[in-house]
Amino acid sequence: MNSTPQTRLFIQGEFVPASSGRRFQNTNPINGTLVSEVHEASRADVDAAVKAAQAALRGDWGRMAVEARTAMLHAVANEIARRFDDFLQAEIADTGKPRSIAGHIDIPRGAANFKTFADIVKNVPTESFHLDTPDGRGALNYGVRVPKGVIGVISPWNLPLLLMTWKVGPALACGNTVVVKPSEETPSTATLLGEVMNSVGVPAGVYNVVHGFGPDSAGEWLTQHPDVNAITFTGETRTGEAIMRAAAKGVRPVSFELGGKNAGVVFADADFEAAVDGISRSAFANTGQVCLGTERVYVERSIFDRFTQALKKKAEGFVFGDPMDPATTMGPVVSREHHEKVLGYFAQAREQGAQIVAGGGIPQLPAHYQNGYWVQPTIWTGLPPESNVLTEEIFGPCVHLQPFDTEEEAITQANNSPYGLATTIWTQDLSRAHRVAGKINVGITWINCWFLRDLRTSFGGQGLSGIGREGGVHSLEFYTELRNVCVKL
Ligand code: NAD
Repeated sequence: MNSTPQTRLFIQGEFVPASSGRRFQNTNPINGTLVSEVHEASRADVDAAVKAAQAALRGDWGRMAVEARTAMLHAVANEIARRFDDFLQAEIADTGKPRSIAGHIDIPRGAANFKTFADIVKNVPTESFHLDTPDGRGALNYGVRVPKGVIGVISPWNLPLLLMTWKVGPALACGNTVVVKPSEETPSTATLLGEVMNSVGVPAGVYNVVHGFGPDSAGEWLTQHPDVNAITFTGETRTGEAIMRAAAKGVRPVSFELGGKNAGVVFADADFEAAVDGISRSAFANTGQVCLGTERVYVERSIFDRFTQALKKKAEGFVFGDPMDPATTMGPVVSREHHEKVLGYFAQAREQGAQIVAGGGIPQLPAHYQNGYWVQPTIWTGLPPESNVLTEEIFGPCVHLQPFDTEEEAITQANNSPYGLATTIWTQDLSRAHRVAGKINVGITWINCWFLRDLRTSFGGQGLSGIGREGGVHSLEFYTELRNVCVKL
């Protein structure tokens, strides 16, 4: 008998085996051991999930009053909180991230995403205009929001529960149903959420999960499915391009949160310790696997050497090890493939003449971590601006520091990227902070902070970093159709 844990599909309120008969392995990045066998959906399974989601729209869920629907989403959040340890362990087994991150960010935000959007949907009014023309005609116009239908949710592996529920929360709050395709690297918490949906009474078919890969697999089949009415995706820019092509058939709307090559800017008048701490987090938190992280930092020349040495101390202070140990502050990267990619950039930086201030390789760890995907937090200086290490997203715990002399130069360097997701600016001169914020071409600017999120605000990028905005009422723009009704008075 096979005793390996099985991660099945969740369709129509039931955990079902994949009809393909195919399984793939989910491994723990700390040591490469097997976490579970994941059932790989066939095209027929994806079709069954979409049919279940379409049927649920026409059933109880579609008829449910907003009060009952949003109360149910509060119950989902409460149940995630009640089963905190189950979610924590599942997320940690898939990602290897330390408890200090998963327990403070991933799981609480997973729950908050349901509460926040349930409350927004209940409290946001629609528009209304009273038309009064000079020739005496009058009309009352009012807006009505209706769900878009079945939403295809394609999510990445870096913050699995958080980023998936960031889409599922508002989609369900607005009355849609969903079919989720979580990353093949991190299938567990999306599956566990199926148990939560059942236990609080969310009708069957409202939330469905199919597992698999991208091309010629569940991801592609879901985005190509003609009965998926809209697609929301977080992941790499190149994947976004493929999904956009799939969505073109049937002219289906997309919302994309894509890659980045974010810059940080540190002025000499910044609160030095706060800036070092902030840049250390933005470069190394979650082992550098945060879309909002900074891989390029521009530091005013007069403090450059001192800043570099202070950041080196931070980089060398991270503690690797058992993710459940509260002393552990850095986990591995997510997979063998990603490990090779990050180490490939480390090699290119060396070949291109970077000075390695800190790290640059694999840390020395006890034998039982030998098959894990560990990387040292790494700081470089001295790369030319055109180096691909400075233009391509690495998504690892690494940062390049470069000195600047003038505010204009810092802005020009920060904008030297086709991406436009986020930036973090450190200065105590408020006028300068606002001035620079207005000139850096990104969707999100943090001043004297990083990753401080208010879920009511817009979130998204420009250029290669995405299409559209989610967060607060902006999520409602994507997850509903706004209809106008005009009544002649
Ligand atoms: P990825 O694009 O490789 O995969 C994301 C998801 O897309 C996975 O579920 C994958 O199976 C699926 N997929 C892949 N090819 C597909 C296809 N052709 N059709 C349909 N689905 C397909 O991204 P990743 O490696 O999982 O995540 C890291 C990337 O995500 C980085 O580029 C990072 O910047 C980005 N990201 C962006 C944000 C943001 O908010 N902007 C947040 C987190 C991560």
